[in-house]
Amino acid sequence: MQFKKIIGQESLKQRLIETVENGRIGHAQLFLGKNGYGALLLAIAYAQYISCQHKKDSDSCGECVSCIKFEKLIHPDLHFSFPINKNENVTNNPVSDDFLSEWRNLILESPYFETSHWYKSIDIDNKQGIISVHEAKNILKKLSLKAYESEYKFLIIWNAGTMNLQTSNKLLKLIEEPTDKTLLFLIADDEEQLLKTITSRTQIIRIPPIEQTSIVKYLIQNNFSDQQTAEKIAATALGDVIYAEEKAKQKEENLVFFEFFKTWMRACYKADIRAMNKWVEDISSSKYGREERKRFVLYAIDTMREGIILNYAGEQLEEYLGEEKKFVKNFAPFVHARNVLEMNEILNEAHIHISRNANPKILFMDLSMKFANLLHVKNVHL
Ligand SMILES: [Zn+2]
Repeated sequence: MQFKKIIGQESLKQRLIETVENGRIGHAQLFLGKNGYGALLLAIAYAQYISCQHKKDSDSCGECVSCIKFEKLIHPDLHFSFPINKNENVTNNPVSDDFLSEWRNLILESPYFETSHWYKSIDIDNKQGIISVHEAKNILKKLSLKAYESEYKFLIIWNAGTMNLQTSNKLLKLIEEPTDKTLLFLIADDEEQLLKTITSRTQIIRIPPIEQTSIVKYLIQNNFSDQQTAEKIAATALGDVIYAEEKAKQKEENLVFFEFFKTWMRACYKADIRAMNKWVEDISSSKYGREERKRFVLYAIDTMREGIILNYAGEQLEEYLGEEKKFVKNFAPFVHARNVLEMNEILNEAHIHISRNANPKILFMDLSMKFANLLHVKNVHL
């Protein structure tokens, strides 16, 4: 991975490059920062830069033999350790190398990911991952060999906070007395997760949140959102691009839900059985899965709540923009003290029933009939 593929962080990239130019590369460095700031990727790009045969001022060349292997994460001197656990295929004393292909795939396909995404991709069944003492033994064995192709051997320990006490103690020796030409990059989001004996022996590199402008650019360039939405999201993302991307995807889905909700409420209000039926066929079709139907119901609950807030508190519709905002405003008067509790209750029940695999056609037709009645309940003005 070249530095230019990493979102923002320009001054930190420059600082890392300077350590190479000045020949002051610390042998044990701790990259401290969230996954969403790009901590892991910066460590990989740094290693690639160190190993590159035709370094440029601001990046590795991306084309030399070393870079090509780094780009695919298959350079023989690049080693990784990360939290894992047993799964269906790996049942005995698992080590990171058993999961190397899943690891490479995840980084190459979606470089910014959370720990939970990683666990999901290796199917460890809600178990926590750890970096165990078997892993530490494996590391020591691997690093005792000479570098194959590069001047240095690299070990990147991602999520170093998941090392247990035994593992930490075993690796401490490596940090104190590094084997020849070995560079150790530890990655963690909080130094409190690590033993003091480890943090005190590493050079700490604090990864700052990504600048807002870089996040806005990223969201737009990847077609996650338009300028206005991107700015809104970046302002609340606190420099975390994983959070920003998820928010953007959610917004995109919400636009689909919005159209769905609008059509539904109109059909119910008019008690138009044909339109209701068509809508039920639509949401029950195989285009949507159970999780999407659940999220749609939550969206409906949120929109009802926004309507009520608007009616009674007259608050700004922070979460809504444009057309959606206009609709909520028009819709709000139909949600009031005399029907909102029941609406909320039947939607919450629907959410539970969908989780239990209720037949969507029956469930949504039933809901539609109830809404047709509830939308006509008159409000009482006190
Ligand atoms: Zn190169």
